[in-house]
Amino acid sequence: MSDIIRLLPDSVANQIAAGEVVQRPASAVKELLENTIDAGATDVKLIIKDSGKLLIQVTDNGCGMSERDARMCFERHATSKIQKADDLLAIRTLGFRGEALASIASIAQVELKTKRHEDEIGTSILIDGSEFKGQSPVQCQNGTTVSVKNLFYNVPARRNFLKSNTLELKYIIEEFFRVALVHPDITFTFYNQDKILFQLPTGNLKQRIINLYSSSYTQRLIPVEQRTALVNISGFIGKPEFAKKSRGEQYFFTNGRFIKSAYLHHAVDGAFKELIPDDSVPSYFIFMEVDPQTIDVNIHPTKTEINFQDIKSIYAILHAAVKQSIGKFNLAPSLDFETEQSMNLPLADENRPVRQPVITVNPDFNPFEKKTQPQTSFSFPLQNKPSIQGWRDLYDTNFQPTEKSPPPIPMEDYSHHPLQMLRTSHSPSERKEPRFKTHTL
Ligand code: ADP
Ligand code: MG
Repeated sequence: MSDIIRLLPDSVANQIAAGEVVQRPASAVKELLENTIDAGATDVKLIIKDSGKLLIQVTDNGCGMSERDARMCFERHATSKIQKADDLLAIRTLGFRGEALASIASIAQVELKTKRHEDEIGTSILIDGSEFKGQSPVQCQNGTTVSVKNLFYNVPARRNFLKSNTLELKYIIEEFFRVALVHPDITFTFYNQDKILFQLPTGNLKQRIINLYSSSYTQRLIPVEQRTALVNISGFIGKPEFAKKSRGEQYFFTNGRFIKSAYLHHAVDGAFKELIPDDSVPSYFIFMEVDPQTIDVNIHPTKTEINFQDIKSIYAILHAAVKQSIGKFNLAPSLDFETEQSMNLPLADENRPVRQPVITVNPDFNPFEKKTQPQTSFSFPLQNKPSIQGWRDLYDTNFQPTEKSPPPIPMEDYSHHPLQMLRTSHSPSERKEPRFKTHTL
């Protein structure tokens, strides 16, 4: 029998990669927004139609691309962000895998318009399901616009698997939040069906949170701050009385990247123990800066899960920092005389018959018997859940309740490694330059 193994054509390989990288419109939005950040943009515009199924368009004023790079960026494993394997150990950019644009272009019709600041004229490229359709010079603004049309048009199985527009929009908003929260120094505008859904001016983190949620968040947030050799923690947590029954406002960012970590979630959740009801979860917007060499971001194609070398210590530091903030800033809830139930005692009524108090005794009661169910310490009078309008309605309903039992540590135990000093942290001015400006391909 003759040999039967052959290399797959790039277009097929890209579609396979797209299966992991682009699961839904929100994944494409995430990748395109991340590229704008890496390009050093200070102004980003996102336009979607039909929840991204018809159109996702992202425009930035970042560094733009040369004519050649504009073509190269759609090649598989084409990136300006790393050059050698060692670079993986010190990643400062959001992207590095060089597969997002190639993947997206294999499952959609893509138009790219880009111009570097130093160039007179820009370049435009059309690609249709990995097939190069043409490149031409174009007059355009400095920066880059990527338009992704008819996502999954050539992958009916994926397209049919998509959820309702409402749900897909919710996922996109979630991705938008994850990027917008880390970059309050960047202006973002988000159009949905030609209407502005968000317009975010620059400001500090607290202002960004308020612009994304509502002005009521001014009263709800407590700062968290902790600087150690291993990790610098900053951000905000929601006051315990604003804890919610559904997840959603729970954000960890490590070196500017949104990450998911059930383990670290447990550290924060545990700090709120006995302050919020068992079925509620706290809100948090927590930023962790660590030496890039102490994390591995290359463990998942979507880059939202990372390994920390010393996650046990980070857990302990985070837990303590949140606890300290709650103790420092969260004053005991003041009595509200308008609603306090104990104040509504009925007035004595002379005509009411006097009833003898009845004492019931349980003859089987044994004070030395252990209770099987531990008693909850006390129930906290939750404020009325604020009414959430419009897009927030979508947002709050679909998250799973938090697990209360400690999740396993999602990694090998590296805690024997020596702690490494932080080398740098992001400063807003760093982001004005593209993060990957160093080399030509
Ligand atoms: P990665 O981000 O992992 O490098 P991508 O496929 O997302 O891979 O992008 C490939 C390359 O295209 C990037 O490394 C970058 O050089 C370039 N690029 C993509 N988007 C932009 C953009 N908005 N502005 C400037 N360059 C971009
Ligand atoms: Mg990228």
